[in-house]
Amino acid sequence: MPLVILPPDADTSGSLVHRYIHVVGSAVWVDIEPADDSWGLHFLGTLDGQAMWGVDVPYGTDPADGAATDLYSYYGRASEDEWLVAGRAVQIVEWARTHRFCGRCATPTELSPSERSMKCPKCGLLAFPRLAPAMITLVTRGEGDEQEALLAQGVNFRGSMYSCLAGFVEPGESLEGAVVREVREEVGVDVTNVRYWGSQPWPFPHSLMLGFHATYESGEIVCEPSEILDANWYRKDALPNIPPGISIARKLIDAWLRDEV
Ligand SMILES: [Zn+2]
Repeated sequence: MPLVILPPDADTSGSLVHRYIHVVGSAVWVDIEPADDSWGLHFLGTLDGQAMWGVDVPYGTDPADGAATDLYSYYGRASEDEWLVAGRAVQIVEWARTHRFCGRCATPTELSPSERSMKCPKCGLLAFPRLAPAMITLVTRGEGDEQEALLAQGVNFRGSMYSCLAGFVEPGESLEGAVVREVREEVGVDVTNVRYWGSQPWPFPHSLMLGFHATYESGEIVCEPSEILDANWYRKDALPNIPPGISIARKLIDAWLRDEV
């Protein structure tokens, strides 16, 4: 069951508890009240009967005295739902911080009272929270025990980890088209039968990861050196180091290991 963040009028408990996710830089610190009433507040939704708020902590200020946690470290300490709401807080606060002026006429913007947007009072331009869709795909070839997955080591990976191929979707491109293009660009292989698998918000800083499974069609692996250090076909019983559980890449690989993709 995915996290569904509801508006406050959908809550029927009648006694909302409030939780304030203070965003310190890009780290989070949760309290039962805002540390300063003058700081920007952004309503995030309700979760398990709690009204969740994001608090925009001004730069150079730290009400947590160093105790705020970055989102990577917060994963595993908080529940999955709490982690997702914290990611939402960071993304919305950062959006508000970076859209204080109109991108067209440079007039200071105003937060809309009725929708999640920053509006220019002079020219009317609206700025909505930014999401960058990125696809991630597990490519397989063969069947049964002989089936193999194409895993690659990106140039920016820490350690010797191998993962699914991923990349941002270009304007004007379908998700399926992005899968075909990215796989061809990164490892020189053509794929077919692209199927959607699932998604994951990825607040680093504002991606939405869209997971796919694709079937190998043709071509030999030729790595694009600016993006990929190494890529190979791996059987389920001979996997390299794979990503940690926080990522949709790991969830996709785990599902393949269970024969669920
Ligand atoms: Zn404007």
